[in-house]
Amino acid sequence: MINLVKRAFLVFVLLFSLNSFSQEGDEKQSPSRVGYDYKGKPFTELTVEEKKILDTILQEYINRSDIVLTEEENRLYSEKIAYLEKVEKSYWDKIKIGIAFGFLGILLLLVALKNLISFFIKNPEKKYQFVLKTDFTYRMLAVFLPVAALTSYAHTFFALLFPFTFLPPFIVCALYFWFGYNKKKFEKSLTDIRNQPRTCPLCKKEMRLLSKTEEEKYLDEGQILEQKVKSVEYDVWLCSCGKVQIERYTAVFSNEVNKEIPIPKVIQCSKCKYETLKFVSSKTLLAPDYDNPGKIQINRKCANCGEVTEVVEPIPRLIRKRSKKIGKV
Ligand SMILES: [Zn+2]
Ligand SMILES: [Zn+2]
Repeated sequence: MINLVKRAFLVFVLLFSLNSFSQEGDEKQSPSRVGYDYKGKPFTELTVEEKKILDTILQEYINRSDIVLTEEENRLYSEKIAYLEKVEKSYWDKIKIGIAFGFLGILLLLVALKNLISFFIKNPEKKYQFVLKTDFTYRMLAVFLPVAALTSYAHTFFALLFPFTFLPPFIVCALYFWFGYNKKKFEKSLTDIRNQPRTCPLCKKEMRLLSKTEEEKYLDEGQILEQKVKSVEYDVWLCSCGKVQIERYTAVFSNEVNKEIPIPKVIQCSKCKYETLKFVSSKTLLAPDYDNPGKIQINRKCANCGEVTEVVEPIPRLIRKRSKKIGKV
């Protein structure tokens, strides 16, 4: 199928080039049927003049039914088609290799950038935030880009159908997502950042990380509540010189009311500024449909200062699922 399309395209290119060649020479003379003697030269070794002669006769041959090609002309005709095919393939091969190197280039840039950023971020709280926000995208790209490069390069050997250019990287990404992406490992890498040794900024001695029960006396009520509602976690580091360092880490996976409505269970309280404003109840004021978003009233109460809020938020409109019934519009 693809070869047919290719051949048709080549014939079209051939006709087009012949047409532009023969515009002047067309009416001057009808080529002699003895045929020009190309002396058995392959197509690529013909002189410009000889190529012109060949094109003129081929043009005649295509336009008129009474012309018969000599054996030599027939051979050159198929050699010309093969030559054009080769030129076209090497042109596309160059593009495919270029794309492959492009993907690799982006990958190298990405890896370099990530390492550079994590090298320069010394503050564990910032490092944690950086990893938390970028880890998933980074891992997916680190899987996608090399496979995409390889696929593009493989296309110079196997003339695969068009959609297969993009399928392998996406399939590998999906497989990696389902089987390879390890949430526990990800959480561990975040815990490692939190647990890396701290040096006291005052006396340069190594600090000690307090346990959950030990740390409570250094936290205020609001901070303890933030930990309780699992929106934030605190680490308290203590130095023998008396220096206390409190670090704040937002939760790894956001806690939402339900999957359909992206409403977080806990948000920051506008009154006391702690992340302790908890979801209490909700009331749908207007159900969403396929065309319009809906409205929902969210009631929240702060676990710290007791502040009660009542906010109306939009519900995203419904997404049409494809009908399984055939013929239904
Ligand atoms: Zn100290
Ligand atoms: Zn509050």
